[in-house]
Amino acid sequence: MTASLRVSAEILELRTRHPFIIARGGSSDYRTVWVKVTDKDGCEGWGEAAATKFYGETPESVLAAINLYATAMPADPFDLEAAEAQWARMLRGNPAARVALSMALHDLAAKRVGVPLHRMWGLDAKAAPQSTFTIGLDTEEKIRAKVLEAAEYPILKVKLGTDRDEAILRTLRDTTDREIRVDANCGWTVTQAIRMLPVLEEYGVTVLEQPVVPQDIAGLGAIRRHATIPIIADESCLVATDIPPLVGHVDGINIKLAKCGSLREAIRMVAVARAHHLQVMVGCMIESSIAITAAAHLAPLVDIVDLDGAALLANDPFEGATIHGGQLTLPTAPGLGVTRR
Ligand code: MG
Repeated sequence: MTASLRVSAEILELRTRHPFIIARGGSSDYRTVWVKVTDKDGCEGWGEAAATKFYGETPESVLAAINLYATAMPADPFDLEAAEAQWARMLRGNPAARVALSMALHDLAAKRVGVPLHRMWGLDAKAAPQSTFTIGLDTEEKIRAKVLEAAEYPILKVKLGTDRDEAILRTLRDTTDREIRVDANCGWTVTQAIRMLPVLEEYGVTVLEQPVVPQDIAGLGAIRRHATIPIIADESCLVATDIPPLVGHVDGINIKLAKCGSLREAIRMVAVARAHHLQVMVGCMIESSIAITAAAHLAPLVDIVDLDGAALLANDPFEGATIHGGQLTLPTAPGLGVTRR
């Protein structure tokens, strides 16, 4: 293919306001990869890769994969389907690396049309649901402080999967009467999850995300049979083909760009989930406003939005979609609509 699109990549050093801890660990320092695709007129499309160790990627593996994929750039940024298929054929896996290039091509294509990406997709920004704001694992005192600090957000998502989950919920409920959703990040056994269900109910939790390990689909189903709230698959659902086996075992799926590897795959996931009457959530990693904004353009298609990755940062280098007060506001500028701060 003609290399009329030039690719460059650099590492972004991101820092969260508070250490961001989930059931399998966490930190305050995160590194993502900023990918730029430049056409012959000097117009740039941007993307971001949030390498996740859990899914087998590091910033270094992303850079190596981007170098390879860069040898197969389409001559025309609108050749999205062919380009994404070609990258997946060249080197499997590496979804964060592939989605960064997918974001950059979508950014460039929508800039050429002169419309925001969600308009290129025919979506109405006003249809986007409110976003949650996540409270990571911490001491009870710090959790209370974080909840107060996040006073503007009407829906909180709390990370559980510890041996003091009930105490965390009690702290949260004693501090606020806002809506609470729970993400156990695979931290429970089926028995523990079923035992936790009445506790979640007591504290008015409205959604439970990924209680058990990814491969335990039957376990998700067993939990769902005891549950009065929706059970959402996150780590159990990476791409569209993961959805049919989940039908009957969960109430919905969580789409993350860094898991599915392409914006077009994300839209396919919405279609497959809807065809099976499943709820659709869009989530994120700890990432800057580039990746958050790319996901935010999909938000008008989904029921549950959890796009606080950039809001949790102390040093987001970019500006794009915002979630002030939980209200998701999409950029009106062409493309992703992301600018440097
Ligand atoms: Mg999750």
